[in-house]
Amino acid sequence: MAQTWTHGSEQNETCPKCNSLYRVTTFRLPTRDSDYFDCQVCGDRIREWNDTEVPSFTLIQRGQHEESENK
Ligand SMILES: [Zn+2]
Repeated sequence: MAQTWTHGSEQNETCPKCNSLYRVTTFRLPTRDSDYFDCQVCGDRIREWNDTEVPSFTLIQRGQHEESENK
C-alpha cells in the first residue's frame, strides 16, 4: 500500500533574472522562521519569508548569467 507524505509540497520556481530552475519544497516548522533565499547563479533575491511554512530550494538547472557587466 502506498504511503503518502503530506508534510511537504513541491513546485518549481524560475529565477526571473537568469532563468535558473529550482525545485521548491515547502516545509512546516513548529516555530516561525525568518530567512531568505538568493539565487545561487546570479545572486538575485528570489524569496523572503517570515512564517512557519518555509521553502527549501534545490538547483535543478543553471540559467544564463552574464559574468561581464561593463557599465
Ligand atoms: Zn538567478
